[in-house]
Amino acid sequence: MAPAKLRPVTSLYNNDRINAAARAAHTAGVEALLITPGADLRYLTGYDAMALERLTCLLLPAEGPVSLILPELEVRAVQDSPIPALGIAVIPWSETVDPYDLVRHVLGESLPVAPSRLAVTNHMAAEQLLSLRAALPKSEFSLAGEIIHTLRTRKSAEEIAELTAAAAAIDRVHERMAEWLLPGRTEREVARDVSNAIIDEGHASASFVIVAAGSNSASPHHVPGGQVIESGDPVVVDIGGRMPSGYCSDSTRTYAVGQPPMPFVEYYQVVYDAQQAGVAAVKPGVTAESVDAACREVIDQAGYGSFFIHRTGHGIGLQTHEEPYLVAGNQLILEPGMVFSVEPGIYLPNAHGARIEDIVACTESGVERLNTTTHSLVYL
Ligand code: ZN
Ligand code: ZN
Repeated sequence: MAPAKLRPVTSLYNNDRINAAARAAHTAGVEALLITPGADLRYLTGYDAMALERLTCLLLPAEGPVSLILPELEVRAVQDSPIPALGIAVIPWSETVDPYDLVRHVLGESLPVAPSRLAVTNHMAAEQLLSLRAALPKSEFSLAGEIIHTLRTRKSAEEIAELTAAAAAIDRVHERMAEWLLPGRTEREVARDVSNAIIDEGHASASFVIVAAGSNSASPHHVPGGQVIESGDPVVVDIGGRMPSGYCSDSTRTYAVGQPPMPFVEYYQVVYDAQQAGVAAVKPGVTAESVDAACREVIDQAGYGSFFIHRTGHGIGLQTHEEPYLVAGNQLILEPGMVFSVEPGIYLPNAHGARIEDIVACTESGVERLNTTTHSLVYL
C-alpha cells in the first residue's frame, strides 16, 4: 500500500536543519552524508519520499552544495515538497542510467577530492549500501545515525508544537472510547473504529492500534484479533498516528469494561503511581536511565518488579520510536527539547495487564505532559 500523501510544512522544514547537519558532519570528520528515504530524509528536507528499489539519495556534503538524486518519475512528487524552496539541486536519473555511478559523479563535482569518509542514513537498504560501496571502493562508510540523532532528539519549539497537536488529536480518540469499547464486540471491530477515528481527529494516517482485552492485556504488543470483550475485562488501548506534518502521536490508557478483578484494580494504582513518579523525575540534567529507575522503583517496592518487562519509554518525533530511549544503562543527559514517552506497565502472564503512557517534553523548568486525558482507571 502506498503511504498517505502528507502535506509539507515549510515553516518546519527550513535550511537550519541542512546547515546544522553539514556542520555536524564536518565535526564528525565526514565529507558527506548520504540519505535515502526515511525519517532522516523527511527531517532534513520535509520530503516524504517513497522507499523504492530505485535510488533516491540526498547528497549532503560537509561543505558545498546539496543535491538530491532521484528517479525521473519522482520529479513531480518532489516539486510538491519543500525541496525546491530549500534550494536543493534535483538531479533526476532515467531508467537506463546507473544511479550509483551518478552518485560518484555528483560527489566528484561537489567535493575537492575523492571522498574518503561518507556516512549513510541508518535507514538505507542493504542492497543500496552495497551498491554504493561498489561504486565508491576507496571511500570508508559509516552510519550517520549518531550525527543526525543529535539534531533530531533536540526538538525546536515548532516541532514541540506539532507533537502537542498530535497528542491532542490522539487524546480526542481516547476520550471517545466509550463509543466503541463495549461487551460483545471483538478487539478487531473496536480497533477498526479506533483506526478510523485516529484519521477523523486530524492524523494523516493511523500508525498502530493495540486493543488488548482480558488475558491479552498481559501482552504489551498484542495484535487485535477475534477475542470478544466481556464484562469485567481490563482493556489496554495503545494507539498512535502520523500528523500531516509527519510528527507522530502515541498514548496508552487502560480501561475497565464493567468491574475488573481485585488484583488488577490494586496494581493499576501501582502503575498510576509509577507513571507519576517517572514524569516527576524528568528535568534537564538528569540521565535517561534515572527516569526509568524512578518508575521501576515504585513497581519494585509494590512487589511487581518482575512483571514490568519493558523499558520505561522512547523518544518520538518523525518516528514513533526514536532516541532517546529511557532504559537502564542509558546515561544520556536529558535536555530541554527532548520529547519521549513515559509508559510503565505491569503484565501478569495469562491473567491481565495495565499500562499508562504519556508523551512528555523536557522543558527548561522541568517537564510538560503533552497527553492530558485522565490517568485514573476509566470504567466503561
Ligand atoms: Zn504506545
Ligand atoms: Zn510508546
